[in-house]
Amino acid sequence: MAVALVVAAGSGERLEAGRPKAFVALAGRPLLDWSLDALRAAEVQDVVVAVPRGPHTAPWAAPPGVLVVPGGATRSASVRAALAAAPWSEEVVVHDAARPLVTPEHFIATLGALALADCAVAAAPVTDTIKEADVHGVVTATLDRSRLWAIQTPQAFRRGALERALDVDDAVLAAATDDAWLVERAGGSVRVVESTPANIKVTTRHDLRVAETLLADRLPRPPAA
Ligand code: C5P
Repeated sequence: MAVALVVAAGSGERLEAGRPKAFVALAGRPLLDWSLDALRAAEVQDVVVAVPRGPHTAPWAAPPGVLVVPGGATRSASVRAALAAAPWSEEVVVHDAARPLVTPEHFIATLGALALADCAVAAAPVTDTIKEADVHGVVTATLDRSRLWAIQTPQAFRRGALERALDVDDAVLAAATDDAWLVERAGGSVRVVESTPANIKVTTRHDLRVAETLLADRLPRPPAA
């Protein structure tokens, strides 16, 4: 059986909401709760949430059965703290609370792809042209878009691969923008599982408005009068 680690310990300063991002209201509920709903619908029963240290999370209450642990100084340190609290499961799926539009299918598909690799990540094909530029803004390369993916969460792992990947010093953890990279650098295999751009990460107030619009499309509408 799989365990889900939901990292929600970031400060979310770029949102300027006066509270950590995971606890900002989205369509009337904390951002974090939308991901917990999707996990429940995917029938992932074991869930650990990493929250900021201190009293920031009030008045959020963890749903029954959800284990809450204090997060770390960096995102991957929060993953490591949550993993240590769930020593029983061979399959682990890591998700950012900052992606509230995740669906149950994302969790099911990434966990299912563990039959083929040490790690499987939700990812959307890149639709923009991507260029590299130097510090002066001079373009040095145009990348082959057909081979590029924008990486999201959830990211599913075989437990041993994730444990080995996270067994690094804090400087390496701080450099990781996702845990799949840590698996890559430890020699593990990583696959992409196709997702859609709708699984956005909420970083700014603009993203929050986009997420609210996308969620409104999903929620049942009141019957016409
Ligand atoms: O800051 P960013 O949006 O990239 O963070 C991605 C996810 O990692 C968020 O859900 C955030 O709450 C979480 N995070 C964490 N612990 C940290 C930093 C970020 O759990 N120290």
